Amino acid sequence: MKSSNLGYPRIGRDREWKKALEAFWAGKLDEAAFHHELKGIRLGNLKAQQERGIEIIPVGDFSYYDQILDLTAMFGLVPARFGYKGGPVSLETYYAIARGNKDAAASSMTKWFNTNYHYIVPELESSLQPQLTGNRLVEAYREAKQELGIEGRPVLVGLYTYVKLSRGYAASELEGWINKLLPLYAQVLSELQAEGVQSVQIDEPILSTTLSAEELGHVERIYAELAKAVPNVKLFLQTYFESVDHYEAVVALPVAGIGLDFVHDGGRNLAAIEQFGFPQDKLLGAGIIDGRGIWKADLQAKLELLERLAGHVAKDRILVQPSSSLLHVPVSTASEQKLEPVLCEALAFADEKLVELVLLAKGGNEGAAAIAAELEAAASSRSQLAQSASRDRKQVHERIAQLQAQPSARKGNVEQRKQAQQARWQLPLLPTTTIGSFPQTPEVRRARLKWRKGEWTQEQYEAFINEEIKGWIEQQEQLGIDVFVHGEFERTDMVEFFGEKLAGFAFTSYGWVQSYGSRCVKPPIIYGDVAFTAPMTVTETVYAQSLTQKPVKGMLTGPITILNWSFVRDDKSREEVAYQIALALREEVEALEAAGIGMIQVDEPALREGLPLKREQWAAYLHWAVLAFRLSTSTVADETQIHTHMCYSEFNDIIESISALDADVISIETSRSHGELIKSFEDYTYDKGIGLGVYDIHSPRLPSVEEIGTMIDRALRVLDPAQFWINPDCGLKTRKSEETVAALRNMVAATEKAREKYAVAQA
Ligand code: GLN
Ligand code: ZN
Repeated sequence: MKSSNLGYPRIGRDREWKKALEAFWAGKLDEAAFHHELKGIRLGNLKAQQERGIEIIPVGDFSYYDQILDLTAMFGLVPARFGYKGGPVSLETYYAIARGNKDAAASSMTKWFNTNYHYIVPELESSLQPQLTGNRLVEAYREAKQELGIEGRPVLVGLYTYVKLSRGYAASELEGWINKLLPLYAQVLSELQAEGVQSVQIDEPILSTTLSAEELGHVERIYAELAKAVPNVKLFLQTYFESVDHYEAVVALPVAGIGLDFVHDGGRNLAAIEQFGFPQDKLLGAGIIDGRGIWKADLQAKLELLERLAGHVAKDRILVQPSSSLLHVPVSTASEQKLEPVLCEALAFADEKLVELVLLAKGGNEGAAAIAAELEAAASSRSQLAQSASRDRKQVHERIAQLQAQPSARKGNVEQRKQAQQARWQLPLLPTTTIGSFPQTPEVRRARLKWRKGEWTQEQYEAFINEEIKGWIEQQEQLGIDVFVHGEFERTDMVEFFGEKLAGFAFTSYGWVQSYGSRCVKPPIIYGDVAFTAPMTVTETVYAQSLTQKPVKGMLTGPITILNWSFVRDDKSREEVAYQIALALREEVEALEAAGIGMIQVDEPALREGLPLKREQWAAYLHWAVLAFRLSTSTVADETQIHTHMCYSEFNDIIESISALDADVISIETSRSHGELIKSFEDYTYDKGIGLGVYDIHSPRLPSVEEIGTMIDRALRVLDPAQFWINPDCGLKTRKSEETVAALRNMVAATEKAREKYAVAQA
């Protein structure tokens, strides 16, 4: 067995990569200095793998922005609007595609499978003729060899995955694009062969989704061609994030090795090997260390898994590797000083996972005795965390054990609630509201920093927050909005804020992972039982409500969003952790209600991104996700109005689950898919309150009264004015104050016109 890696985080221990990119964009670093800086980071990343004894080290996984954009640039597939004239793609053009420039909008970005990494979506315009503009893999291979003596394995996203993730062409043109790209892939590989490269890792995560027989045919043709083109290079076909679809056909492809995910496959990859065997002439990439989680592995169990695999594949044909690239985990736990030791000891980020891979390969070759001390150390840190008080919250366990006894349905039906709420609030036709946050100005951020550093007392900080709330309550009053929010000035991030106040969460100092481009996120860690400790939002909400007669919505982040935007413990199912969060949030909902707050919004923008890759598993996920939301919102009185909000994803195919949340009012972002979402209401009768965002908060452009009016009219062609709400499409925290006021003023003006128009129809 050999240890092998599939990809390493590119951002650097202290986000040096991010800082270099941003300095270059700001003109503070010239191109030569920028290249020099990135080369240093790249070599450092390779060294980290070399020093830990990884035998097969990937090269070319490093990027100046995104690995899909790298392919787009390497093939010269630059959308026409960027004015590219052929030849090598300049850094200027490369970053224009990613970020836009003054003449052309950026290409869109979207989530890489079910991760929180976003890639730049290729636009395969029919006029584009792909050409090889350079071969970055040859360069990466040479560099690793010359500078560090590493015989690297170049990494390339596979043709089928690349084409499937691209947009801008019709289904009937798919084959044409495969044909156009095949010679280029063959050329890239031939050049690597000429360079003396022995093996190339080709990532085809698309093979882990659900593929039709016809699609499988395309894959077979692609690999037959590529195998012919480079007989002397070992092609190593890598899948991840799920079990491989069409196992028998995929392992029969004419490649030298197949990499499978044995962590996120639901046990299906192992079952397939045990049922169908594994070709004797191929290498098996055994992805047994979690490439997406942050926990130390149960090395004993992993060793047993390797033994089981060795029953079907000769040991010298097994590569011990992570389940996917380590791009999705932070770099190293070494810099973490502030975490509880029992937690810190149980963590493994990228560097620590490399050590695990090397150990497991050794244990696999020489037997468990050869790594006995390490096995024991790993078992002990895992068991200490397992036995820690944070995982022993009796009350949480009792409630979960009796989940059926927990209310998950409102007392009254939709109609009864509607009447009770209308009697209480007397809202006008087409009520106006916003999504929660108001601008997080530099002053707000400065205030928080002063408070965190201890320069400001708690009282000073609270007084500042209250001033902000007061100012914006007055502003909403003047604008004539119907349902107010307090503005979320006390929150940096909608998950972090709650994580810091609930029991069971921890926060790292350097646990960053790349989200898109230079943007990194530091997800909270859910490591213990999640429990409510004290009210989290009541003070600010009640203060805001004390300043006005209008209803102020309480504002919470929902259980599924908190779950999906955190690193989650691996000893319990995500489902169970979601229920724990839900029951903790329920206490906050009840505290708000008891304090007199009559409208409570529970945001779930991340509901959709938790969907499994395989369609047949959607129903199970949606079932528990909906139940979690209902557990947190069902105990309130009929006259208390529950709101929810979602944004930036496709909702058409999960509209029934959205309705099953049973929120009295939902606001959905639709500016990017307006027509489509509205269409789904033609086929599906939605019986609760709904606000489809009437303007795009991401644009600094002021939406005119007419434009907003058109959006309202469009929605009211399929939705009943009696159920429709008027709101921006997401929170306003990224906008400037003046922009926000001007846009909301137009929104209210457009609403007044719409009211005149539709009141007649109502009467
Ligand atoms: N209430 C949150 C806000 O307004 C919702 C943010 C989101 O949908 N991502 O900021
Ligand atoms: Zn939103």
